[in-house]
Amino acid sequence: MIKTRDTGNLIIISGPTCAGKATVIRKLLEKREDVVCPISYTSRPMRPGEIEGIDYYFISKEHFEQKIKNGDFLEYAKVRYGQYFGTPKKEVEDLLKTGKDIILEIDVQGAAQIKKLFPETILIFILAPSMQELKRRIIERGAEKKIDQIIDRFKTAYKELNALNEYNYVVVNDNLDEAVEKVNSILISEKCRVDRIEKLDVQNQEEFMHELLIDKNFSKE
Ligand code: 5GP
Repeated sequence: MIKTRDTGNLIIISGPTCAGKATVIRKLLEKREDVVCPISYTSRPMRPGEIEGIDYYFISKEHFEQKIKNGDFLEYAKVRYGQYFGTPKKEVEDLLKTGKDIILEIDVQGAAQIKKLFPETILIFILAPSMQELKRRIIERGAEKKIDQIIDRFKTAYKELNALNEYNYVVVNDNLDEAVEKVNSILISEKCRVDRIEKLDVQNQEEFMHELLIDKNFSKE
């Protein structure tokens, strides 16, 4: 009766450091087989516990700049400490053909570039409940201890907040399971948008009314 576009949506998830974007996405991927998240490239050094090809593809600055020249990135940005982060073009283009929803966990600069290329992109901003809570999570993670690095992170966090109005949804990650549910609900709702309808094939009204009139299940009185 109704045929909707069977292509997947492109969804961007941004938000300040330690807001829990990566954890929310990981949990969502465990739940949904039809959602994928391509791995970005970065020139920043690998942190303890990170895995090549799982967290990022870690490459040198020179290699990254060569890949920029080759046109290998859909978008890229210097996100912090002058380090590059970029989304692989070929992988996203291939995934778009599979009909799966594609989540890109990228910063606000990258989000603006993708939105220009694909105006239908859905933008979700994940926030921690407060800056104090962000500070607590950074201390707990313990990956960074130098004040310069922490200040740099918070400068970026405050700067990124200015882009919030460009986004379609905001999810406060106070409770992880609820945040995952909210993002999942957004993905489900976006698949139900009326503008995804390609064909609406309803039975002819006269023919249907005639069928009703002669249907033995209904009486005249
Ligand atoms: P980190 O991994 O250093 O904690 O944070 C990386 C930051 O870069 C996050 O804000 C993340 O959203 C962003 N990021 C990760 N991958 C990409 C990418 O491919 N492109 C862009 N523009 N930003 C990215």
